Amino acid sequence: MEEFDVAVVGAGVGGLVAALELSASHRVVLLERLPRPGGTAASFRRGGYSFPAGPLGFSFPRLVDSYFENRCLRRVRFHRKHYHLLAGDLDLVISRPLEVLARELARRYPEERLDRAVSELKLLIARARGVFATRSGLFSALERRRVDYSLEAYYRPAAEFFSDFLKDETLVNLFSSQGVKSSEQSAIASAYMWDILTETGIWYPEGGIDALLLSLYRRVRERVQVMLGTPVRRISLERGGYALEAGDRELSAGAVVINADYKKAFLELADESFAGGFAESVARRKESGSVFSLYLGVDLSRVDFSRMRAEHMLYYPALDEGAEHLTGNMFYGKEVEVALLPGGEGAAAPPGRGVVVVRSPMSYERCLFDTGEEYHAFKERAGDELLEIAEHLLPGVAGAVEVRDAATPLSYEVWGGRYRGSVAGWSWSDSIARSLVETPFENLLTAGIYSFSIPFLGGFASAMYSAQLAAQKLKHRH
Ligand SMILES: Cc1cc2nc3c(=O)[nH]c(=O)nc-3n(C[C@H](O)[C@H](O)[C@H](O)COP(=O)(O)OP(=O)(O)OC[C@H]3O[C@@H](n4cnc5c(N)ncnc54)[C@H](O)[C@@H]3O)c2cc1C
Repeated sequence: MEEFDVAVVGAGVGGLVAALELSASHRVVLLERLPRPGGTAASFRRGGYSFPAGPLGFSFPRLVDSYFENRCLRRVRFHRKHYHLLAGDLDLVISRPLEVLARELARRYPEERLDRAVSELKLLIARARGVFATRSGLFSALERRRVDYSLEAYYRPAAEFFSDFLKDETLVNLFSSQGVKSSEQSAIASAYMWDILTETGIWYPEGGIDALLLSLYRRVRERVQVMLGTPVRRISLERGGYALEAGDRELSAGAVVINADYKKAFLELADESFAGGFAESVARRKESGSVFSLYLGVDLSRVDFSRMRAEHMLYYPALDEGAEHLTGNMFYGKEVEVALLPGGEGAAAPPGRGVVVVRSPMSYERCLFDTGEEYHAFKERAGDELLEIAEHLLPGVAGAVEVRDAATPLSYEVWGGRYRGSVAGWSWSDSIARSLVETPFENLLTAGIYSFSIPFLGGFASAMYSAQLAAQKLKHRH
């Protein structure tokens, strides 16, 4: 049996960072079930296009950049992404500064206390930015120190918080959820999201997220034993450490960092030696929902983009009076996201071409069928129907498609390793982001988007930060 100080399970960004951080002080093995690193943030190639399978941007770029700079990795240049909300009468670029948004909304809702709503929200953003809860109190991920004030007054639902200043239901929903549907999330969760969207912003790295991951992976490979194509099938608690069945090998490690999906890990990999009811508590915790995605490689010259006021659009067909012909479409009553990544040097598509990703929520159950044929027919039909909506927004796009692929919740489960195809970690229903980096089991830590009950720095940066935290805790113990 091979022995290591630490086994890292999963080579998503969280696993790569954890492995690198521990490599100087520990003998580390990095185990990844897929033949490539990068997890859900990796891209896939079709024709001359490279499609980002998961993230289409991320927040807290300075945190990411300074990590890369400090480790002498590839320096990153970012460009900011903006978001256009088109929901009936609401036709706004919602990623601009909150004051600008308030001024635009005030024209439509002159009787509402929008200035007050925005000033209270900004106050909350300033206090909650980068702050999460640990067992011993609040901690700032950005200032790397304890926080000496309380945020408990903001643990209440966002809808209740904003109702103190706003009366109109659409406005309350917009402020609580950055969309038009009512939301259960807390005021703090809403502040994290508004910060990510408007103040800190969502950014896309030049050369794509792949290029970042690749530079990280190269460094990891120099310092750590990496086993790609090696799924961990079982983890057992042993005296003084852990035993792992990985591919056709048996390994032992004094410590384990789990970057794989939290539910997959604790409900499927951890065996009966993990007693004490932890699996039951993990099973009760709700994961976020899933999506159907359509990935299109298009000839930009043949598409009319005039309705798109930013490179990322959030569109509600059911609120669009001109979209009545879409009433039978399976995505009609849902939010539809349309993102454009234009082509060019180092980009996801050749010059003059572009990648368009169209996404909409879909439940896991919706794509479960008895036979592969039925599943593939459904996947094709869902793609056609989402393309029909995209065509309504971007006339010409259907005829401009050169390459097309799609992913269902089942794809995100099988390929992404995500429990029921979940996309954004946990369900964001907690009152504040809580650290789940430490588990009840000694020297068994987690790193990745599931390591916080809310990914308060956005998915990618939260995964990176949790990995640094996990590595730091292990270094202190040994
Ligand atoms: C469709 C989609 C859209 C997203 N959009 C965004 C976005 O716009 N912005 C953003 O910031 N984030 C987004 N995310 C979240 C994204 O997942 C995170 O940003 C981040 O990349 C997650 O990294 P991670 O380290 O948690 O691990 P993951 O990317 O989940 O990687 C975990 C790794 O563990 C491996 N693994 C699983 N089980 C095993 C096993 N048994 N043995 C060995 N290896 C195993 C997996 O194969 C995978 O490589 C999106 C995710 C999805 C799926």
